[in-house]
Amino acid sequence: MTSSASISGEAGAESLGPVRLFRPVSWEDGTPVVLRCPACGCESPCPKILSVTTTLKSHVPFALHLCPECRSHFYDPIPDITYSARYSEAASLYALLQGTSLEFALAALSTLTKKEGQLLDVGCGPGLVVDFWERLHLGVSTGIEPSSSGNFARQDLHRNIRVLHLSEDSELPDHAFDVVLSTEVVEHVSDPALFLCDLSKKVAPGGVLIFSTPNIGPLARDLPAPSNLVEALSPGFHVTLFSEAALRSLLAALDWPHVQLIDHHGHWIVYASREPITSKMDLVWVDEAHRKYLEHAAKDGALSPRVRAIFSYRLFRKIANEGRWPEANPLLPHLAHLLPSMVASWALHPDDIVETGAIPDDTLREWVAEFYHLPAFLFLLGIRSKNHLGKTKASVQFFKLACRLSKLMVFYYLDDAYTKEIFWESRLNAGIALLESAQESEGITLLEQVGASLQDNDTGAERLLPQLKFATRAWLAIFQHRVLRGNWEAAGLALSPLQGFLASHYDPSLLRISAWSQPERQWPEEWSPFWYFFCEQMLLLNTGRNAEAAEGFDQLHTLCREKVPHPDAVHLLSSCRRHAKLARQRVKGSKGFLARFRFRLHGI
Ligand SMILES: [Zn+2]
Repeated sequence: MTSSASISGEAGAESLGPVRLFRPVSWEDGTPVVLRCPACGCESPCPKILSVTTTLKSHVPFALHLCPECRSHFYDPIPDITYSARYSEAASLYALLQGTSLEFALAALSTLTKKEGQLLDVGCGPGLVVDFWERLHLGVSTGIEPSSSGNFARQDLHRNIRVLHLSEDSELPDHAFDVVLSTEVVEHVSDPALFLCDLSKKVAPGGVLIFSTPNIGPLARDLPAPSNLVEALSPGFHVTLFSEAALRSLLAALDWPHVQLIDHHGHWIVYASREPITSKMDLVWVDEAHRKYLEHAAKDGALSPRVRAIFSYRLFRKIANEGRWPEANPLLPHLAHLLPSMVASWALHPDDIVETGAIPDDTLREWVAEFYHLPAFLFLLGIRSKNHLGKTKASVQFFKLACRLSKLMVFYYLDDAYTKEIFWESRLNAGIALLESAQESEGITLLEQVGASLQDNDTGAERLLPQLKFATRAWLAIFQHRVLRGNWEAAGLALSPLQGFLASHYDPSLLRISAWSQPERQWPEEWSPFWYFFCEQMLLLNTGRNAEAAEGFDQLHTLCREKVPHPDAVHLLSSCRRHAKLARQRVKGSKGFLARFRFRLHGI
């Protein structure tokens, strides 16, 4: 298995099992109701596609309708949210720590041939893009944010943020901005045509309008959906989920001659310009610019120590995610004052980690309330212990603690997909680390729990939405562990749930798509199907099905060749070659044996 591990708040392109994914969603019979579509303005009978429960306290289900004219989806009734009353300072700090919205916005900006000039970010949240633009001296930038996140950006990042809605801002000049950006806002507004008109007015002649919004594609109950579907549905927050046609006609109505749409991780990024657009994303630029930004902010003496520490954490996480521990380690002392003192001492001296079972839940709750990213941070420390320091036993303690903390967080503070991911990732890694440190029975038990979590409806962790990828990786780890010990019969037992879960990965062409759709991000699970495929051929080889194994190794060899120089691909290539050869020799051998056998039979 690959030794890297990754933490990010951004949803990946993993497919999920339909059962759990659609848990909060009830599919409707499609009864049409005459409604006015917010995307195209048509009044027509719109079938009710599904109802979805809100994450708001009232738990009122919202009905999602499909407009037959423009194929957009929209909620009825339209959610009514006062954004200025939402988002506490803690939520701003969390967003700042998470920071993925910045990477997403940078990906959108990376297409620009001229990355300079006056920038306006509408719905800028904690103001990271505004801060980025100024910090990297790309030009003057302004943000608009009606929620209290705007106050944070103004006071703590010292940027020009106007804490009001765009429609209320009478002083902001028209036709003044080279880049007008608005990420993930248009789906929240009740009148998108008016909102896009207001945005368009701010664009300078020769400037560009860039906005993004979720792209859910066609909704069907049997469709393998992206894991971010529930997030895209956001009942109680989103109003419209636009079709491509609806976005194009909204912009055509505003006389934009050149429009381009890019699908990026399940979101539309939309460009509108007076000049022809030849936009192509430059993810190398995104990576370099993001790093430069974090390095600069982490050293900025004008920021408060707490905000600087947050930037240090993000820089640490970015570098750690790339597995570059020698560069990540020196950043740890800068994080110390973000952390509860005991954790800070562990972070600096990983040998001294205490028995985490002794820490009462109340203390742990205080810790996560103080630093929302503590579970993720401890998970990374676990990976550091296991993969970089080679202290597998210590890593189990980090993973177990990350697991307990993320569970507490989901129940008491922040019920989000990201924290749930940490929960399962930590549990899985604790199991793997236990196997690696010769605590086989505890490791297998833990991994079997993760593997069975998809079917287990009675678990107290109902809200910890288990994901297919974790169950798959758990069975894979058990399978590989047994394969490596030559325990083929027991390995076969772990294979049967895997076969069910990975049905889609059996087809090599599907395997290719799911594994390499995000070449810029090396998720460990992207490689799981390959290793699984490899192990399955090993099982065939060791149970006498040599011809099938030879063919499988050849297939995998072809797939891996395209992925060189990835270290896993290089490793698998030589293994596939060697084992395909062995399988062929056995096929030949068995043929020869059978031929001799028949000859003797005939000879009698
Ligand atoms: Zn419509």
